[in-house]
Amino acid sequence: MLHSNLNINDLDHLEFAGVDAVEMAKKYGTPLYLMDEDRIRDRCREYIRCMHTYLGEASHPLFASKACSFKQMYRIAKEEGMYIDVVSGGELHTAVSVDFPADRIFFHGNYKSPAEIRYSMEVGLGYIVVDNPDELHLVDELAGEMGIRQKILLRITPGVDAHTNKKINTGLVDSKFGATIETGHAEMIVQEALSCKNVELKGFHCHVGSQIFTATPFMEATDIMIAFCKSILNRYGFTAEILNLGGGLGVRYIKSDPTLNIDVVVRQISEELVRICKIMKYPQPAIFLEPGRSIVADSGITMYTVGSIKQITDDICYVAIDGGMTDNPRYTLYQAEHTFLLANRMSAPVDFKATIAGRCCESGDVLKERAWIPKPMVGDNIATLVTGAYNYSMASNYNRIPRAPVVMIRNKEDYVAVKRENYDDLLRNDV
Ligand SMILES: *Cc1c(COP(=O)(O)O)cnc(C)c1O
Repeated sequence: MLHSNLNINDLDHLEFAGVDAVEMAKKYGTPLYLMDEDRIRDRCREYIRCMHTYLGEASHPLFASKACSFKQMYRIAKEEGMYIDVVSGGELHTAVSVDFPADRIFFHGNYKSPAEIRYSMEVGLGYIVVDNPDELHLVDELAGEMGIRQKILLRITPGVDAHTNKKINTGLVDSKFGATIETGHAEMIVQEALSCKNVELKGFHCHVGSQIFTATPFMEATDIMIAFCKSILNRYGFTAEILNLGGGLGVRYIKSDPTLNIDVVVRQISEELVRICKIMKYPQPAIFLEPGRSIVADSGITMYTVGSIKQITDDICYVAIDGGMTDNPRYTLYQAEHTFLLANRMSAPVDFKATIAGRCCESGDVLKERAWIPKPMVGDNIATLVTGAYNYSMASNYNRIPRAPVVMIRNKEDYVAVKRENYDDLLRNDV
């Protein structure tokens, strides 16, 4: 099967992380997110091992927590010794609510409100990744008010093409993120940061895109960023201690996707870093990487129940399920591909073509058009694979649909990590 945590059991049911996924759907209802805690921990350990081995003890992986944000995820990341990224006061609040060490948190994003920045300084946040000059001056001012010197990185746009979907390609010149090297804006913001009294510049950040399976874009970014660092050193005498190369390592969503080898990618990045630092005569900085989806995506599946099957013509059929864009907006947002299984009859022949339709009052609410699946019946369970990233964290209450629960599986034991929302939860803020 697609990943090693997927299997077929004696009842011809989908087995996930060693438990019967159909039984889980019965026990907790659908739609239902299932997550494999052991696999998430394995991924954290693999990143930490590779980065410490190849890049030194000062280099660390950050879990990009926007991929999957709820208390238990931050507890797991904390226990595994991960650093994390947050992109909002809400993510920060969730992390500090479980005592995630604030000095291991990086605050990202192209818009941070004064209240969010103040909150991050109050909890003793490690690093703010400053996106633009307006934000730099705001951070400087607020740090001054608080009487602290805030550690920062500057987000730089290196102009690397990660050859991925445009909407998730963030390293090019035309980007809402960061300061571009090519236009001179990057150098200008460094100059300004060095003149700010209440910030301490520690280094630079860049993020080239998503769904990257090879080291190549990271190696290109390394070359460009070290060359940039060198020119900054020459002109301003500033040496970067930290180079954060961002996230975006790929995940196998469908059979034709490659499999990511974390060890190979990290080793190749380290070789390139050593090589370029030697050529440039630049002291090797600590490297940070920010994997999000590659930590959690294949540690999640979503279970649904089929409600109706509408055969319109020989070629057009809609299979309606009890979820859709509210629990997984990825197809609606960027035609993202997923794999679908008939979880309660796994050996049934895959000989039926249907559009898997969500339940919202939007024609665009589909999970896949013309998917090949076994012919379903009302009441069957359809499973979407590889939904651990950007599903629960992107879920909405559109059409006043309560959010689905997250059930985690640890050592073949299931437990609720996020409860199912009920109707009263939907009314909580209505006055
Ligand atoms: C989204 C994002 C990540 C994580 O990307 P993945 O594809 O989930 O690994 C990391 N860093 C930054 C700055 C991001 O915006």
